[in-house]
Amino acid sequence: MGGGKCFSGVKNVSLLRLAALTAFFCLSCGLAGAGAGSPLSGRVVVIDPGHGGDDPGALGCHGIVEKDVAMEIARKVALAFREAGAQVVLTRDGDLDPEGRRVEIRDLPRRVELANRCRAHLFLSIHLNHFSEPDEYGAQVFYQCGSVEGRKLAEAIQAELNRHLVDVGRQALGGDFYVCRNARMPAVIVEVGFLSHEEESRRLTDPEYQERAARAILEGVARYLQGNREEVR
Ligand SMILES: [Zn+2]
Repeated sequence: MGGGKCFSGVKNVSLLRLAALTAFFCLSCGLAGAGAGSPLSGRVVVIDPGHGGDDPGALGCHGIVEKDVAMEIARKVALAFREAGAQVVLTRDGDLDPEGRRVEIRDLPRRVELANRCRAHLFLSIHLNHFSEPDEYGAQVFYQCGSVEGRKLAEAIQAELNRHLVDVGRQALGGDFYVCRNARMPAVIVEVGFLSHEEESRRLTDPEYQERAARAILEGVARYLQGNREEVR
């Protein structure tokens, strides 16, 4: 996420211009649900690759740029969720938004409004971490303080990332984040690993590792949805 800075401070927003096209985009994103028995079947999931356009996000070891790795992982997450029967909406494709325009800096309102317009069930923002201490590594999931569902979702994803990637005892953390605060559905920020860590940054660009991360996120979400189903019974 670039030292935790990228989600704060966005206040003034003009959202109306997005409305019409977002509605079209939501209608066109529906996929016939594979995996009808899957807890993901028929769920609308917005996957948000962090940063983009002129906003590179964190700059890591080996010249790795957060926006590029976030996009690569988000594509794999999107594919995994589609295969599980979810209807996936990506908030950007490379440096372009769903309207085909270059992604603007400070466009968090656009992303969260897209999710709200789509009546998404879940919002997953994909980022890579960066810290001044180069020893920090491991995935970290954040949720909005006070959101019970956000916390449950974050904890489920954190557990699966710890299990499938690396477990350094990280727990899901609460905070105040623009997208999580304004999304009308459970929303989390998944920092898949640290670009400031020499070895982990290299792993994060490995397609096989990215695939594992995507599967872990999918399993976490499935577990969260399953848990809620059981609570209802
Ligand atoms: Zn970021």
